Amino acid sequence: MATVEEQKTVFDMDAANMLNKELRDVFASGKTRSYEWRISQLKSIIKMCDDHEEDIADALRQDLSKPELESIVYELTMLKNSCTLALKELKHWMMPEKAKTSLTTFPSSAEIVSEPLGVVLIISAWNYPFLLSLDPLVGAIAAGNAMVLKPSELAPASSSLMAKLLPEYLDSSSVKVVEGAVSETSALLEQKWDKIFYTGNGRVGRIVMGAAAKHLTPVVLELGGKSPVVVDSDIDMQVATRRIIVGKWGCNNGQACISPDYIITTKDCAEKLVGSLKKELETFYGKNPLESKDLSRIVNSSHFARLTKLLDDDKVSGKIVYGGERDEANLRIAPTILLGVPQNSLIMKEEIFGPLLPIFIVSKIEDSFDMINSGTKPLAAYLFTNNKKLKEQFVMSVSAGGVVINDIALHLAVHSVPFGGVGESGTGSYHGKFSFDAFTHKKAVLYRSFVGDAAVRYPPYTRRKLTLMKALITGNVLTILRALLGLS
Ligand code: NAD
Repeated sequence: MATVEEQKTVFDMDAANMLNKELRDVFASGKTRSYEWRISQLKSIIKMCDDHEEDIADALRQDLSKPELESIVYELTMLKNSCTLALKELKHWMMPEKAKTSLTTFPSSAEIVSEPLGVVLIISAWNYPFLLSLDPLVGAIAAGNAMVLKPSELAPASSSLMAKLLPEYLDSSSVKVVEGAVSETSALLEQKWDKIFYTGNGRVGRIVMGAAAKHLTPVVLELGGKSPVVVDSDIDMQVATRRIIVGKWGCNNGQACISPDYIITTKDCAEKLVGSLKKELETFYGKNPLESKDLSRIVNSSHFARLTKLLDDDKVSGKIVYGGERDEANLRIAPTILLGVPQNSLIMKEEIFGPLLPIFIVSKIEDSFDMINSGTKPLAAYLFTNNKKLKEQFVMSVSAGGVVINDIALHLAVHSVPFGGVGESGTGSYHGKFSFDAFTHKKAVLYRSFVGDAAVRYPPYTRRKLTLMKALITGNVLTILRALLGLS
């Protein structure tokens, strides 16, 4: 007899193919293109968040022991904010943009029409399971697409809550949720989508891009990396350390794509920095941070094992200057600071994505640029300084998805700048209008009439026509006049 598990519908290649076809039919009906449909879906997301704030916070508690404040502010409020902005701006975003034309096409007019891409796939990660699933979805809806969302199986309570709530609040014929892990995602990836928006690590990012290439499907890859923090002297050390702490441990206990991965500072500054970090960490999380309700736990035992392996590396284990405590049964690791870790240690070979923070010392602060640029391009790079020249040098010479001066992670909340990586940290971006654009094709439209038909384009080709055509393409009136008059 089949077990209950086996009785659940299997989501295989055929099911993925059928789902894709179903969505293609819905998209072809034109339903998702209308302004009214988009607005109604965006409003429903806000309503869903309001009606189920407690359930969502509860799911995040189950998946990650995420503190309620972090759940409500960083997942729900940020998401509602995206919807509110889209609701306010949508008409404007959807409007065709007038474009200039040239003498070559005179008389004519042109515009850029924002066209939905069609049927899109969103694959999301576990660390901010609601925000990372629904924020791209806001962009896909605003742009007028039909879509499938595949939440992460590593945040099962959040995934099943989204699978339950989305059909209740959104148009379930156009917005589908598929729960599952590698096999379900692989079945989805075999299909032809008009865009794949993936959030997660670079290894799977490569799988996604490979699958997309088979269908020439464009992708947005929101990946991670080792985001550095450079700390200069002559700064307000207390403010800087508080911001570093909240950007590291106050963001899902370091399990955030833009949380600081390591710090670079100078020798004279390091002692002051470590002292300040210790003091503020104790103020925030008490003497026994393993028991703090304001710190998320590690997501699962394999990530716990990965992090403890980094900490137990011979090159690293003696370098802990704060923290290091762990509680395997409850998957908790205390905020941990390491000083004097060699650069060839395990901890520097991969993104830490957890509560460990190594500090590196350089002889002069400008040397930090080379250290950062010797690695792959990070998702975010941070600098604390009051030195104007250093700020300029940092912005000009460090390549990263985003840069923040004198704070951590806050660029995420600014909707007028794109959020995304570069190189190894990802491709494409979203947030605000960039989310709408990520799921939109910018169609070039040129309008002509039947007047002004120039014989110069048509055969038989002559030397005079060639001269005139060349002149017309330059757009220079004098050159055109000369060509018309037959002057070389
Ligand atoms: P994850 O394990 O949840 O995986 C992400 C998605 O990939 C999931 O939906 C999962 O089902 C799918 N997946 C996993 N293996 C697959 C396979 N073999 N084939 C197809 N699909 C597969 O999340 P993760 O990768 O552990 O997430 C952490 C990483 O994501 C970090 O590197 C982090 O920096 C990055 N991240 C980036 C952002 C961003 O906005 N740029 C946000 C959050 C996390």
